[in-house]
Amino acid sequence: MTYSYSAPVSQSLFDRAAVVTPGGVNSPVRAFRGVGGTPRFMVSGSGPYLTDADGREYVDLVCSWGPMILGHAHPEVTEAVRQAVERGTSFGTPVEAEVALAEEIVNRIDPVEQVRLVSSGTEATMSAIRLARGFTGRAKVIKFAGCYHGHVDALLASAGSGVATLGLPDTPGVTGAQAGDTIVLPYNDLDAVREAFAAHPRQIACVITEASPGNMGIVPPRPGFNQALKDLCHADGALFISDEVMTGFRASAHGWYGIDGVAPDLMTFGKVMGGGFPAAAFGGRKDVMEHLAPAGPVYQAGTLSGNPVAAAAGLAQLRVLGRDGFAAHAVVDAAARQVRELVGEALTKAGVAHTVQTAGSMFSVFFGDWGEDGVTDYDAAKRQESHRFTAFFHSMLSQGVYLPPSGFEVWFVSAAHDERAIERIADALPAAARAAA
Ligand code: PLP
Repeated sequence: MTYSYSAPVSQSLFDRAAVVTPGGVNSPVRAFRGVGGTPRFMVSGSGPYLTDADGREYVDLVCSWGPMILGHAHPEVTEAVRQAVERGTSFGTPVEAEVALAEEIVNRIDPVEQVRLVSSGTEATMSAIRLARGFTGRAKVIKFAGCYHGHVDALLASAGSGVATLGLPDTPGVTGAQAGDTIVLPYNDLDAVREAFAAHPRQIACVITEASPGNMGIVPPRPGFNQALKDLCHADGALFISDEVMTGFRASAHGWYGIDGVAPDLMTFGKVMGGGFPAAAFGGRKDVMEHLAPAGPVYQAGTLSGNPVAAAAGLAQLRVLGRDGFAAHAVVDAAARQVRELVGEALTKAGVAHTVQTAGSMFSVFFGDWGEDGVTDYDAAKRQESHRFTAFFHSMLSQGVYLPPSGFEVWFVSAAHDERAIERIADALPAAARAAA
């Protein structure tokens, strides 16, 4: 496929990058492998807009894959970061900002009685799994096909996100021993979970699931699915871990927990709570968390964990979100609703079969005919008509709207997506929909 536009500065940066970095990027999905073309090198962001190295402006529907829920360079977050940087960037000691951030999380998310800060969502899920194994004295872990929990060895089997975009079933480099205790089951299939518990009684340390999966595109849990998972875990003495790295402080003010109210034993967070910096967390029941060193025997640590600049950014972002009865979340919800309705209308008008799936303020579009059920698991998500997404993506990009460069990813909006930004999206949609037809 050839594209009727070019990005010469981005292309030359990408060429330079490919010499010194594998594939030219530091995270695979940024390379546009699924859609082709030149990955855009961004030089700045402001509110709902990004500007690339060729000087083109885009309405951003990626929001750094979720974190930028207030838009880019939000003045209060920027000011909190500036002040923190001026005081010094890392001390390797406890600092007040990390306590305040932990308090903010504990106060906002009821099932979290204690929390440990880390630097990435991957670390959060990896550590939560270790803690679950240490707490229960058991080895096996259940995960679901299409759920991505970061690039943790034991959790990369049938992962979504970039693994799905690149069409990989699993990855070389993960040994049989590392993956041998991972049981991968189809998403939304409770019978499969029951059978796994029956086949491995009192051997399963935990079930980990995305609270509402976004890494195979949005595939929400069927009503009652998460509660049933928790009940099955508890009946067998296993822990229920809800990965809210993507949904936390994003799907709603209280994440997916705020929508389905199922209290997990452990939860993981990242993205929004870091305010655009590398900060993430895992937390939950105090009796479980107290098994972590130095309170308990399960080791976990990090040179930059609770970094004062990252903590200041995350705290500022959560405080702005929490202000005036979570007013910013209402703005995000409204913007998301508007965008997904516009997308649905444009595709329907162009006669393109599709479904828009939603999880709170998160949504994604699957091209294809899905009937009433929609897309309920990874096998269905993989049947999406990717060539239509590719055509749609490039039409939007050429018209100045930046979508995630993969049909397996969520579209994110921010509280800064105002009428003007949404109008620009609306203007681009008819041509994109026709391109996808
Ligand atoms: N868990 C979920 C649900 C995610 O979506 C991601 C990243 O997209 C991760 C974990 C890993 O987080 P990170 O990329 O910060 O390591």
